[in-house]
Parts: sequence; structure tokens; C-alpha cells
Amino acid sequence: MRKQTHYHLSFLNTTHPVDNNMTISNAKINDIPTSSVIIADDDPSILLLLKHILLAEGYSVTEVNNGADAIEQCDNNQYDLAILDIVMPDMNGIEVCKTLRRRTSNTPPILMLTSLDDDISVDKAFTAGATDYITKPINWSVFKHRVRRLIDAEKNKKTIKKLEYHDSLTGLPNRVLSLDRLESAIYRAKRNNNNFIFIMIDIDNFKLVNETLGHDNGDILLQSVAKRLQETIRDTDTLSRTGGDEFNIIIENINHIEDAASIVQNISSILDHRITLANQSINIKASMGITLFPQDGEDIGTILRNADIALYRAKERGCNLYQFFSPDLSQRAVRRLKLENSLRHAIENEELVLYYQPKIDFVTYKPTGMEALVRWQHPEHGLIPPDEFIPIAEETGLIVPLGEWVIKTACKQFSQWLNEGLEINNISINVSARQFKEQDIVSIFEDCINNDDVKAHYFELELTESALLNNEDHAESKLNKLHNMGIKISIDDFGTGYASLAYLKKLPIDILKIDRSFTDGILHDPDDMAIVKAISSLATALDLKTVVEGIETKEQLDKALQLNIDYGQGYYWSPPRSADDYKETIKKLAN
Ligand code: C2E
Ligand code: CA
Ligand code: CA
Repeated sequence: MRKQTHYHLSFLNTTHPVDNNMTISNAKINDIPTSSVIIADDDPSILLLLKHILLAEGYSVTEVNNGADAIEQCDNNQYDLAILDIVMPDMNGIEVCKTLRRRTSNTPPILMLTSLDDDISVDKAFTAGATDYITKPINWSVFKHRVRRLIDAEKNKKTIKKLEYHDSLTGLPNRVLSLDRLESAIYRAKRNNNNFIFIMIDIDNFKLVNETLGHDNGDILLQSVAKRLQETIRDTDTLSRTGGDEFNIIIENINHIEDAASIVQNISSILDHRITLANQSINIKASMGITLFPQDGEDIGTILRNADIALYRAKERGCNLYQFFSPDLSQRAVRRLKLENSLRHAIENEELVLYYQPKIDFVTYKPTGMEALVRWQHPEHGLIPPDEFIPIAEETGLIVPLGEWVIKTACKQFSQWLNEGLEINNISINVSARQFKEQDIVSIFEDCINNDDVKAHYFELELTESALLNNEDHAESKLNKLHNMGIKISIDDFGTGYASLAYLKKLPIDILKIDRSFTDGILHDPDDMAIVKAISSLATALDLKTVVEGIETKEQLDKALQLNIDYGQGYYWSPPRSADDYKETIKKLAN
């Protein structure tokens, strides 16, 4: 059923008296937190009107124009009321209502907007779990009262709930609510396809405090711990007190498993504090057990059990420790933290080194150039591959000085090889997304070209699609500058990302580097073969060169040679080697 346009007009006519009322009811009552309302309607004029009225009533308003966004917003925020239009193009209000009700908790009351003559929809709406409905065209005073009644009723319900679901000493969610929140976190993480961590915390020697200093002091201690934790976590995280001296925290939206390490580290140091109880200064510490969803387990029972096991292990090892449930994770987390701290000094301590891997020209079958690949010669951990520290450098912003070092070092080395008479035509340098965005690469290359007397056409930049597609305008002007200087632009890991043809035509791109994952399958997997063929013909059509990486065997090479590809790279010829070894390698390959 389509919305009838004459409604809009009748709405617009009724706005004037409402607007006049607005200033009167606009005065907000002191200190009462604003109630928040979400409205979903595909009709912008209705959204505008409803929003005006609700703002005038002192509510905060979120507006979305489709059902999917309404669900997403409700998943990630708490509202006191949802107003849903029944007729929306993508997902109608009834489906949205059903989906919201299916969720485990925190669904606000739902007010449906429906047409006057539509009894069937009203029935359906109630079956789907709507709390109430209002018909269009809307009578604004009925609307305002209905909204207020629904929100007040919800508030009362929440007050009662709060008593049942909160710990009276700290005001935090208690065990019952904590489980409910855990269930919601599972739901959200599955929906958004991301991770969360669940932390179980136990205060060390709490019993001792309770027994020697009395329960009142024990209570003060618990309140202090609750306060410290509450101040550390984000609003979106959930802290609960689930037993005597036991707390737990759910931290959602973890993108990298390794991020868990710094969060946990931070909480751990917050918990380690001194407090004065009964005129004595006491050192408080706590232990933590941590599990990760979904890696360590996907249901509430497993999550609780594993957190408990981890906590027990932490206690076993001694006080003031934290322990990840999965030992592998624990090691990775610790290593990651250590690396993050020492990466800051890696550049000044000259611990970074460049390795070089030859690139072979498929016409002459001789090495034509090389790719510079960075490594970290760590004093404790040995040679660390870039996959392990480049992501850390990106997150911490250290990629900017690191990237500058790579460009300058590669340039110097290349200049030296040219002077030594090595027959090489180009050097590829990897530039990661954040580096490309934040670094003034143009000036760095200009400096290199001037100082080391290396012509721009020797350089090739390897960028991934993500570097180009975030912030496209900015990327375009930077690329044009580099390209105009004579530097070649290559798309790394091609085929794995967006593979949008539009940007290939729009941006000054010279080379596509077919991702290694396809080379793996080129012999056995017809899909991989088809993709490589398609990329190769695409490149021919757009007049781009192609490089195939990761050639390890003669069979892979033979296959690649059938496909009209220009260059190859891989262990078949040589792995990346240090500058000294590279020179020997290239001499051998050239003969
Ligand atoms: P990438 O740019 O895709 O580099 C190719 C990777 O494939 C290199 O790993 C190389 O050693 C490896 N490789 C080459 N031939 C073969 C083969 O035949 N078989 C197999 N299995 N692997 C092969 P590496 O050196 O560990 O570098 C990994 C990634 O780290 C690079 O992937 C690149 O994304 C990044 N990276 C390396 N150096 C730099 C740098 O200086 N700056 C930035 N931003 N990223 C870098
Ligand atoms: Ca590369
Ligand atoms: Ca690659």
C-alpha cells in the first residue's frame, strides 16, 4: 500500500498552532533526564513534523527513514519510545516491531503509525508486539498525550525493575541483570559480526579486610572499587556486581583481539590502588579472568565457565594478575603490548631493516626491480615480520615516522645500487592506508629525489584499495601529484577488496598486483583461475600492467605465463633478502 500524499498537506496545515505551543512546553523540568524517542518513517515531512513536536515536548529525538536503521539504532542505543510507521518500503513497521520484540531486552514501548481505515494493520501490529497505535492524519494533542503516557509507564516499570535488578550497595546491575546484558551482548556481536570480552574480577584478600576491619569498611572498599571501574569503562560497556567481592565487565565492539590487551591492562592498573580504611592505608589489588566472544565460546554458560576458569588460574599464579582463558590469546596479548611499547623506540634505535624481493619481467625473464619489505630486528624477539607490527604502527600512528624511514632508506639503497651499476629499473614501496592519508608523501619523495639523485620514474607505490577508497577526493589529488612527478601507482592485493572498476578509470593507476591468495589456487581452484583471468583481461582493457605475487613453483609459473601477465614475484626466484644478499641474488638471476 502506498502512502497518500494528501496526508502531508493536512499535516503541514496543522503545524502552526503546534509551533506556537512549542515555546510554552519547551521549558525542561530541572534535572529530569531527557527521554529519548526514535522515529522511523520513510516520509521526510512526517519525520520533520514528529521531530518538531517531540523536541518541543523536551524529548531527544533520533530519526531514521527505514526499518533496518531503526533496528540497528535500537540495538546500539536505549530509547524510551519507538515510533514506527507501518508502511515503509524496505521493511515495514510490523516486521521492525517483531524484530525488536524478538530481541532479549531493553525494547522500548512501540507506538505504530497507521492509516485511519487500516484495521488489518492495527491487528497485525498488536500481534507483532506494538504497545499502542495512532492513526493518520494525526491529532497532535492525542499524539502528545499518548507519547507521554507510554514513556511514563515505561519509566515506572523501569524503577521497579531497577530495584530488582540492581545491587543496592553500589547501584550497579546485579547478577540477574548482568546475565541479561550478556545475552544482549551476544545478540549484538552476532548481528554486527564483531567481538566482545567478558571480564570476571575478584578483589584479592577481600575476606581479610571484611574480617579484620569489619563489614562497613568492606562496603566502603566495594563502593570504591565500583567507582574506579565505572570511571574507567566506556558508557557502552557494562559493569555489574555479581557477588560479594565479584564484579564483571562486558566490553563490546572489540575489533582486534589484541586490543583486549591494552583495555585489560588499563583496568588492571586502575584496580591496583591504595585506600584508607579505619585509619589504615591499604593496598588493594584484584585478579581478573577474561574470555573472548566468540573465540572462547558462544553461549552464556561457556562464557561464564571459561571466565571463571581463567580467574581461577590468575589467582593460582598469584594476586594482582589477569589471565585470558585461551593461553594462546594470553601470549599474543602480552606480546602485542610489549611490541607496542618497544616499537616507539625501534626507529631511533635503528632496529628496522629493509629486505628486498626481486620482480621478474615475463618478457626478458630477468629481474627488473624489487619490492622493499620492512622487518624489525627486535633485540629480544628476533626478526619480526611486518604483518605483526605494521597493524600496531597503523593503530598507534607510528606508521608515519616508520613509513618515512622506509621511503628514505629504500631510496638511498636504490641510489647506491644504481651507482654500483646494478641493472634495475624500479623499486616498489608499500604505503599503508593511514600512512597514505596522514603523511605528506609527496614532499618526502621530492626530498629523496633531490637528495639521492634518483629519478621519480624508478619509484612505484604499492597501495591497497582501502587506502584509495577512504577519503576519495583527498586520495585523488595526492595520487595525481605523485603520478605527475613520474611515480608509478600500483594496487596491492588486488582482487581481495572492493575491486570497483570506477576508481580504476578515475585514478591514475599503472599496475595491478594480483593477490597471493589467488596464486595459491591458480592450479586447482577454477574460481581463482577465473578471477586471475578476469583481472588480466581487465588490465589489458584499461592498459594497466599486472604483477602476480607468490609464485612458488614451476607449475604456478607456467599457469601464470599462459595468462598474459607482465611480471612475477615469489619464492620460486627468491624470498625477500637483506640488501647485501639481494645484490648476490640479482646477479645470479640476471645471468
Ligand atoms: P605484501 O605487500 O602483499 O607483500 C608480499 C608478501 O608476500 C611479503 O611478506 C613477501 O615476503 C611474501 N611473499 C613473497 N613471495 C612469496 C611466496 O612465494 N610465497 C609466500 N608464501 N609469500 C611470499 P612480508 O614481507 O611478510 O610482508 C607482509 C606485508 O606487510 C606486506 O604484504 C605489506 O602489506 C606489509 N609491509 C611490508 N613492508 C611494508 C612497509 O614498508 N610499509 C608498509 N606500509 N607495509 C609493509
Ligand atoms: Ca606489496
Ligand atoms: Ca600483496
